[in-house]
This record gives sequence, C-alpha cells and structure tokens, in this order.
Amino acid sequence: MTEQGKKLIYGWGRYPMAEARLSEPADVDSLRAELEADSLAACIARGSGLSYGDSALAGEVISSLGLRHVCELNPATGVLRCASGLSLGEVLSKIVPKGWFPPVLPGTAMVSIGGAVAADIHGKNHHRDGSFCDHVIKLTLMLADGEVVHCGPSQRPELFRATCGGMGLTGIILEAELQLVPITSSTMIARSQPAAGLDECFELLEVHEQARYSVAWLDCLARGPRMGRGIVHLAEHEVGGELRNRDRLGLRVPFTTPGKLLNRHSLSLFNSAYFRWQNFRAGRNRLDQNGYFFPLDRIRDWNRLYGAAGFLQYQFVLPAEAGRDGIATVLRRVSDAGKGSFLSVLKKMGPANGNLLSFPAAGYTLALDFRRETSLFPLLDQLDAIVLDHGGRIYLAKDARMSETVFKAGYPDWERFLAIKQRVDPSMRFRSAQSDRIGLTGLGA
Ligand SMILES: Cc1cc2nc3c(=O)[nH]c(=O)nc-3n(C[C@H](O)[C@H](O)[C@H](O)COP(=O)(O)OP(=O)(O)OC[C@H]3O[C@@H](n4cnc5c(N)ncnc54)[C@H](O)[C@@H]3O)c2cc1C
Repeated sequence: MTEQGKKLIYGWGRYPMAEARLSEPADVDSLRAELEADSLAACIARGSGLSYGDSALAGEVISSLGLRHVCELNPATGVLRCASGLSLGEVLSKIVPKGWFPPVLPGTAMVSIGGAVAADIHGKNHHRDGSFCDHVIKLTLMLADGEVVHCGPSQRPELFRATCGGMGLTGIILEAELQLVPITSSTMIARSQPAAGLDECFELLEVHEQARYSVAWLDCLARGPRMGRGIVHLAEHEVGGELRNRDRLGLRVPFTTPGKLLNRHSLSLFNSAYFRWQNFRAGRNRLDQNGYFFPLDRIRDWNRLYGAAGFLQYQFVLPAEAGRDGIATVLRRVSDAGKGSFLSVLKKMGPANGNLLSFPAAGYTLALDFRRETSLFPLLDQLDAIVLDHGGRIYLAKDARMSETVFKAGYPDWERFLAIKQRVDPSMRFRSAQSDRIGLTGLGA
C-alpha cells in the first residue's frame, strides 16, 4: 500500500519502482509555488516517464506535462518555440502539415520536449545530423530558487551545455526553441538489406553512411559465423508528395503477461521469424512516417510483455576503432550466459557535441533488452567492464543500475557538470534516484 498522497511510479522498464508525491503544475507560477514550498526538500522533473530506469524517480516528482500552452511555429524559418510538456507526437501534428519536421526523433512519439532535451536524445540519423540539442537555439529554464533564465549555445553556454543531456539536474525546462528541417512529403522511402553476420552489418552501415536514416536490427541469438546477422534498414524522406500526420492508435497489451513467456526459446523463434520475414521483404518500400519512426507505438504498453518483474535496456556506445571488437565480445558474452534480447539495435553514431553528460560519441551504439531476473545483474556488470575496456559509456536515459565508478569512467566531464550544478543548485534540490546512485548528488558528491 502506498503512503497517503503518494503514488507508485516507474519508468518504461517498470524497474525500479518508487513511491512519490507527484505534482503537475499547469503554469509557471504554480511551478514556482511548488518549488518554494517549505515542505519540498528535493525533487526531480518528469516528462512522459519513458526513460527506462530511475532518472525521473524521486520522493518528490514534478511533472512538466501540465506545461503545454506554447507551440508557435514560424512557417518561414522553421523555428519552433514549444512548451516542455508537449510530446513529439503533438508537435508533429502541428508542424508536418506545414512542411516542417523535427531534426531528430526517438523510437516513440510519446517522449516530451523536456525529456528530449534532458536526455539529448538521438535518432537513426545521428551519424548525419547529431542529437536533439544540436538543433536547440534557446532553452527557458526554472532554476532551484524559482528564477526563470534563458540559455543557448551562445547565451549562458555553460548552463546550456550542462542542461542538454543533464537529466533534469540543473532545473526544470519550461520551453525550447528548436530549428526544424523542411520536408515536402510525409512519406518515407525505406530499404532493407540483410547481413549474414556482424561484420557485414558494420560494412553496410559504413557503405550507406550517406543515408539520412540507418539502423540495424540484430538477431542476437544467432551463434558462430552467423553471430550478429541482421537487417540494415535505410530511409530517406520522399521528395514531393502529401503532407499529413496520421496518428494511428495501436492495440494495447491489456495486462502484464507472465514473464516466462519471453524465454530463450520464444526469443529464438521471434528472432528467426523476423529475420526471415525481413529478408523476404528486403527492398524498397514506401511507408507512412509515423509507421517508419514509431513502429512500436502500434502496440501500446508493450513493456508489459516482459512480465511483472519488468525489464532493462542496456545501451552503450563504443568508439569506432574498438567498437567492432567490443560489440562482438558483448554479443558473445550474452550468448554464453544463455540470455537473449528481444530487440537488439545497432546504430552508427556521429561525433560527440560537447554537452557535458550527453551520451552520443563517434562509433557504434548497441541497445539490448533483457527481462529482469536476478542472474541478469552479474552479467550486466561484466558487460560494463567490456564497455569501459573499449572506451565506451552507457546511456543514462536507459540505465537503472550502473555504478558510480562505471558512470564516472564513461563520462569524464562529470566534474565540470557538477561544478555548474553546484553554482545553480547549491543545495542539490534537483536530484533523482539515478543521480544519487551514480554519485552526482549523493553523499559523496
Ligand atoms: C520505446 C522507446 C524508444 C526510445 N527510443 C529512443 C531513441 O531512439 N533515442 C533516444 O535517445 N532515446 C530513446 N528512448 C528514450 C527516451 O527518448 C528518453 O528516455 C527521454 O528522455 C524520455 O522522455 P520523457 O518525456 O519520457 O522523460 P522522462 O522519462 O519523464 O524523464 C527523463 C529525464 O528527463 C528529465 N526531464 C523530463 N522533463 C524535464 C523537464 N521539463 N525539465 C527538466 N528535466 C526534465 C527527467 O528529470 C529525467 O532525468 C526511447 C524510449 C522508449 C520507451
């Protein structure tokens, strides 16, 4: 039973869970009143709650979903000013009919603008277009003392570099001003190419580095020479066509399934069937943009398929030179441990952008999903060691268990980040379960 006035909240992985007092101020004045309340010692901002682990969990949580009144597009320049509580899907419905498009999209349309900035999210085009915050012109932020400030690449640049990717620890993002990209059609032209093994996947991603969007799905259960076989998906915006945003509400997973449904056997069947099916339809396809960018949104609440124990996504990035060997080592270790990942996604990444806690770095990123079970945690500790040995790091937006040591080794700018945080939030009012765990706001900080 939860304490009165508190609610059980969690991220997309449904692990961990925390009891929190959740408020949802509807405007800036109510938000300031929340922050100034004597009873509020510490809190963290929350958008749509789609980070996988505990980055939006704390005893006191302030939702920014009530902040949704601003969405102004300059149709001549493609500059969008929008409130942090709006979702990317809501933004798409306003801008696509006018011929504009977000420069970066994640795998779900439900992510909020505040969450996109705070995690400096990346899409299937990072190798060409960088991450979300590379296209942010200005942020409006409420600091811990209630002051509203603006920052951007040349206005309070240090605060900007700490806030982009800063996981809500510098303040509450109220609005973002964003440079959109022009489109002339809302249809995508997609191509798929099968790859017989991991080396071929890497080769295809390299050969097609000029493709606007590229991503590889890997069959992480294939062993031996077929290890890392997969399908490389490439896509471009169609030139000339219709501009419309089709919202497709998908089926909902009605209840949390018994976790045992996703076992090595069922994963193997799924992976083989998917490989054969994609192989069969390899070639050129015209797809509606929402179907292309957000295929999983068609199965709402799909996270319930992992059962009541929830699941973890393990996403890391490795520099290009060491990446191939590192990713092969990770896949072998996962296979030797008898674990399987339902979704295994490999992307080529472009250069890092100088934001102090942003995840992307030149090389390759791999994301693996695992059902939560006790035996998973020692395996993930082993994977951490491989990632660090190869000069990589783990994505904070997906993390639920990384240690302080692993975080600090992977994010060498953490001390510069902390110095800025201490200037704008000296009493550490903004802190999450994650920031305490990784030593940014905990006792050791
Ligand atoms: C199906 C799926 C696919 C995904 N695909 C991708 C992908 O392709 N690329 C990628 O990069 N990520 C991806 N993600 C992760 C997701 O984009 C990030 O976790 C994002 O931060 C979630 O946004 P949110 O609004 O749900 O934020 P939340 O999960 O609520 O919060 C995430 C972080 O943002 C902070 N935050 C949220 N709002 C504010 C605010 N107004 N002010 C200050 N801080 C704030 C929180 O404190 C927290 O630290 C995916 C997630 C899912 C579930």
